Amino acid sequence: LHAQAAPLTGVGIERIGVLIVLHDLTRLRQLESVRRDFVANVSHELKTPITAIRGAVETLIDDDSSDPALKRFLEIIFKQNNRLNALVEDLLDLSRIEQGVIGNSWELQCVSLLPVLESARTACESLLAEKKIELKLFCSADLKARINAPLLEQAVINLLTNAIKYSDEAGRIVIEVAQLEEQVRIRVRDFGCGIEEEHLPRLFERFYRVDRARSRNLGGTGLGLAIVKHVAHAHRGEVTVASTPGEGSSFTILLPRRGE
Ligand code: ADP
Repeated sequence: LHAQAAPLTGVGIERIGVLIVLHDLTRLRQLESVRRDFVANVSHELKTPITAIRGAVETLIDDDSSDPALKRFLEIIFKQNNRLNALVEDLLDLSRIEQGVIGNSWELQCVSLLPVLESARTACESLLAEKKIELKLFCSADLKARINAPLLEQAVINLLTNAIKYSDEAGRIVIEVAQLEEQVRIRVRDFGCGIEEEHLPRLFERFYRVDRARSRNLGGTGLGLAIVKHVAHAHRGEVTVASTPGEGSSFTILLPRRGE
């Protein structure tokens, strides 16, 4: 049940009552839950055929006797199958994280943030090297927060992968972690293409993409930022974005320091 209340004023400022509006959200919640289960089940079922296709295509590609024209088509199948796999993996991750947020079942532990961020950097090392991007990481070694380390690492990897994808060759990315009074702030900044303001409010929606064709070419699934948002919620935190087209973007995850 969602309730809203507002004072009801008569002529002038005389208060003549209170207006209370109650929204029954049961049906909406039920629909959401059916959608979540459906997506999770379909994604799970898709994994088996995708794996089978990958195995068969890999065998054919490795077969030296196949003719080059056929090989070209096999490589297309292989690439598209990998895309499908990435999509299904992201959908499964999203369902899993969302489920945990709703059931409040993500375990948080007070640990150092630096190793988590270093591990995210290591995961992106080859992408960084490919584009010759320099990554600067500022995080004091004694900074701790109540987090779920694998989840937070995944969120930082998603932000980093985007920062790399939407940066120019030989660009620069900065990760800064700061301790605020009540929160810990993790900020991933790039100096790439940036995002027009009109897109910012919808950026964290699943499948929302500024430029579909470009993002698809860069290998995106359109789910990366939706995952980041849910990870932030799993920590009872939030994620925000600020960006200037042509200058770059800055994504900020704010986590409560005590995890409450
Ligand atoms: P994708 O898999 O398409 O990257 P995301 O959910 O990670 O999906 O991001 C959604 C969209 O937000 C992207 O398609 C891209 O248009 C935009 N975006 C995300 N991060 C950045 C960034 N660092 N710089 C510019 N655009 C970005």
